[in-house]
Amino acid sequence: MNKKMNKSLRLHPKYGANPTMPTCMFCGKERGDIALLGNNYKGEAPKNMVVDDEPCDECKQVMEKAFMLIEVRDGESGANPYRTGYIVGIALDRAKEIFPDLFEDHHRCCFIEQSVLKKVLGDLYGKEIT
Ligand SMILES: [Zn+2]
Repeated sequence: MNKKMNKSLRLHPKYGANPTMPTCMFCGKERGDIALLGNNYKGEAPKNMVVDDEPCDECKQVMEKAFMLIEVRDGESGANPYRTGYIVGIALDRAKEIFPDLFEDHHRCCFIEQSVLKKVLGDLYGKEIT
């Protein structure tokens, strides 16, 4: 059983269960589930939002095999930077060699600014690489 299911929900006085459709914090797509925020969210919950660091099914599958470089707009920082939607996966064994300081088994992604990713990939930028 998911441990989140054991949490009780305190209803929002105006918005009740206060639902939102969680988006994946890695790729920004809807995960396909519903989160009930109740009174834990001030005001009415937006239609979509990042509620936790649980990846969507697609990102979960990618992270099993690859370290994800998630492209963000230049100048972005913080925990929730603007993502461009471009993601590059690097085989786990290669990622450990390339990013020994970044790589941890439970942490299989990082944000990377667009201009940096373009320099790293060179002519491969924007192409589907297998
Ligand atoms: Zn995702």
